[in-house]
Amino acid sequence: MKARLVSYREIAPNTRHFEFDTPDWRPAFAPGQFLSFTASVNGEEITRAYSVVSPPGERVALCANLVPAGFLSPALFAMQPGDEIDFKGPYGAFILRRPVSDSIFVATGTGIAPFRSMLLTHLNEHPDRQFTLIFGVRHEQGLLYHDELSALAAGHPNFRYIPTLTRPPEHWAGLTGRVQQPTLELLGDRRDVDVYICGLHEMVNDVRAKLKEAGLDRKRIVFEKYD
Ligand SMILES: Cc1cc2nc3c(=O)[nH]c(=O)nc-3n(C[C@H](O)[C@H](O)[C@H](O)COP(=O)(O)OP(=O)(O)OC[C@H]3O[C@@H](n4cnc5c(N)ncnc54)[C@H](O)[C@@H]3O)c2cc1C
Repeated sequence: MKARLVSYREIAPNTRHFEFDTPDWRPAFAPGQFLSFTASVNGEEITRAYSVVSPPGERVALCANLVPAGFLSPALFAMQPGDEIDFKGPYGAFILRRPVSDSIFVATGTGIAPFRSMLLTHLNEHPDRQFTLIFGVRHEQGLLYHDELSALAAGHPNFRYIPTLTRPPEHWAGLTGRVQQPTLELLGDRRDVDVYICGLHEMVNDVRAKLKEAGLDRKRIVFEKYD
């Protein structure tokens, strides 16, 4: 199937929110799933996965950062409105588990993408469930969708948004440091919550190991690794 780029905007240094028209596909997927994009790069077919950052039924959006030495992300960043790219999907099992429990979402960097789709869909569907997002990045300007997530938290008593920075500016009044510690603190004594983790493998593996060490059943840990 073809996706035609409608627009993009820079939402952090080297990170873009892309919106695509998909004339052959009505965006029906489970929030958290990804699409598989293929482009010809230096004469070679390259395929990479990108989580859908928009909720089902809306124009398909992705959030990607540029990996300068990479293959597909530079091709995405070279696209201009009107350009087309091949894709397949949706794929993936990184979706809300049933029955739905109180949930902790842990993201770093563009790992926020599936959670945005999930939150925009599930917060209203499950008002009796508590959702908490711990979002870790280095710098304040890397807090993707920060205003939107803050507004979502302000408007939903069942959603708490906890950003944390490893390189905070002086004026930063929020949490500092990596996502591991606040995740464990939030879990506390509870073992009846599901924890969803998305980002690069080093963070995902470390958070999983710490949660298991703390005694959380591995079936309650759901994760997606980007590398
Ligand atoms: C299920 C799934 C969903 C994904 N969703 C997204 C998404 O929503 N947004 C997104 O930006 N990426 C996402 N990725 C990563 C994406 O598929 C590509 O790996 C990434 O864009 C790099 O591709 P590349 O061809 O440019 O570079 P490659 O040559 O494939 O990769 C170069 C290096 O970049 C590192 N890398 C991979 N992804 C990232 C990243 N996001 N940030 C920093 N370094 C990275 C890897 O360690 C790799 O060694 C997802 C991956 C998977 C498996």
